[in-house]
Amino acid sequence: MTRLLPRSRGDRLRWGLVLVLFVFVAVIPPLAGLYENLNPDASARFQIFLGTSALVLALWAISYNLMLGYTGMVSFAHAAYYGVGAYTVALLFKRYNVPVIVGLAAAPFVAAVVGLITGLVAQRAVRLYFSLLTLAISQLLFSLVYQSYDITGGDNGASITLPDQLTDYTTLYYFTAVVVGVCLLLMFILVRSPLGAALLSIRENRQRASAIGINVKVYELAVYTIASVFAGVAGGLFIFYQQQAYPEMLYWTANAQPVVVSLMGGTNTFLGPAIGAFIYVVLENAISKHFPYQFDIILGAIVLGVVLAVPGGVSDLPTVFARLRERFHRAEEAEAPVESAGEAIRMFDVRKALASEAIQAEEVHSGKTLLSIEHLSKRFGGLRAVEDVSLEVKQGDRHAIIGPNGAGKSTLFNLLTGQLKPTSGKVIFDGRDITGKPPHVIARTGIGRAFQITTIFPKLTVRQNLQYAMLAHGGYTVRPFGFANRMFRAEAQELAEAVGLGAWADLPAGQLSHGDQRAIEIAISLALGSKLVLLDEPTAGMSSYETDKAMELVRRLATERHLTLLFCEHDMSVVFSTARTVTVMHQGRVLTAGTPEQIRHNPDVQKVYLGELEQEELGA
Ligand code: ADP
Ligand code: MG
Repeated sequence: MTRLLPRSRGDRLRWGLVLVLFVFVAVIPPLAGLYENLNPDASARFQIFLGTSALVLALWAISYNLMLGYTGMVSFAHAAYYGVGAYTVALLFKRYNVPVIVGLAAAPFVAAVVGLITGLVAQRAVRLYFSLLTLAISQLLFSLVYQSYDITGGDNGASITLPDQLTDYTTLYYFTAVVVGVCLLLMFILVRSPLGAALLSIRENRQRASAIGINVKVYELAVYTIASVFAGVAGGLFIFYQQQAYPEMLYWTANAQPVVVSLMGGTNTFLGPAIGAFIYVVLENAISKHFPYQFDIILGAIVLGVVLAVPGGVSDLPTVFARLRERFHRAEEAEAPVESAGEAIRMFDVRKALASEAIQAEEVHSGKTLLSIEHLSKRFGGLRAVEDVSLEVKQGDRHAIIGPNGAGKSTLFNLLTGQLKPTSGKVIFDGRDITGKPPHVIARTGIGRAFQITTIFPKLTVRQNLQYAMLAHGGYTVRPFGFANRMFRAEAQELAEAVGLGAWADLPAGQLSHGDQRAIEIAISLALGSKLVLLDEPTAGMSSYETDKAMELVRRLATERHLTLLFCEHDMSVVFSTARTVTVMHQGRVLTAGTPEQIRHNPDVQKVYLGELEQEELGA
């Protein structure tokens, strides 16, 4: 479950709902029997059949939500894996006389193989293009099943017979409930795990996810395959209660069902789609009984209404109520404005900092080279954004790159951290050649980065932003078990305090001020244990108060933690108060480099900046 709030009334209500759902599932058969006794027209068998179909739909929708809600992927091929599951059971039974129970056990494996292979293809693209590829995959799999008449029975579908032990509908219901329960438990463990944390970070911000060392494509492929596995089980269970698989199960429009169910129930909570599934089945039955010809219109209107009224879905109602209640209570007290975390930053030991500053300055001059850039170039078509740039960054240095807009500073940073691949040249970091390596690999060698546009995980809490960075850095995100939110909790809190955000650790990061979000981004680099921190215009868009505060933080952290900084900056006062080495770029090339004093008095530099900057601002 994505925890956006601390344990609150809303949370307790939510866990109450889980219990209600559990009891509800357990008592459906006896309730249906009771209903039949009271009402001779009703059929207990039919009610239990509906219950079984709701359970299977819940499993299918939750597996879909692993992608939609947890990772932010929209797939049109998920129904195909559901169909593959059903056909696995049917074809093994029909052609090889394999018992259906064995077929059900095989379904997830077959779905996994199909999911993995097709997922590899879909993974060639991202976002919209990923969705379009899944559409093509879905059509392909549908056509295969539809047209292989000799094997699949084509449009006649394929049928099975259940073993005697499962022909009783109540037994089949509980059997389905147990299988669905086990699958949900496994998925629940997964979404709370460090692997789940990696998925959430991808949903929140793919660029930041790779900058903390997560191999986004691999994780997306993993969740795609895992979702296929559970869709395969759901499809296998489908054929148990329908005794029939048909090609339309795989058709791309069939994906509407898990999507609608997830949206109605809520994509932000684990069990939301399950609640949505039960509502959907009840609605579907009621509408088709009373208004068989207006089915789509009525269902569509209801779904639209729910999504507009409660964007978080039905399972979000407790949070909505809790929030309303809170607002009602708070209206009585005068609301204190949330102050920025300015003061905490000033509380550091000045003498200690100054002493180590002196030591560091010594180290810099004699120190070893941490980053060495050799003849690096990047062309966009005919445009030479970065041209034959060579420079060295010494361990412990604070190296500024200045230059007018369009000089190639951000492009240079993108080459260093792997967002862009160089046209030619070399980048050596800490003795290793990292030229052209992908961002997640470079992040894990120890380069942290703040982007020109602040890049954090906005819906995760401040603490989670840091915890997930630590998980990724430690290589824990491959684990599909364990509770991510309990790992590195103390360390993340300590780090949040170090950047002055301790009191805001439980707030969603996106709710903080621009300056504080910058501090989170810097803290993420520290959470990665980065040896080199790249800051792309760290004070862009900040007020002068925020600028002072942010740079004070940067200088303090650099001193206390012996960081090497490489930053580019527009504000000359920031450059001259922080940098020990300055490189000037102009039209993609290095114009000159030196100490701040040398740069200040360099006539070429002044020429470059004339028209861009007042001369006295640059001169002493
Ligand atoms: P700076 O950060 O110094 O302001 P940039 O590195 O952002 O400069 O840009 C350098 C030049 O490269 C600019 O002329 C810009 O228009 C161009 N540029 C940057 N990124 C791209 C891109 N992805 N495609 C084409 N041109 C680009
Ligand atoms: Mg830039």
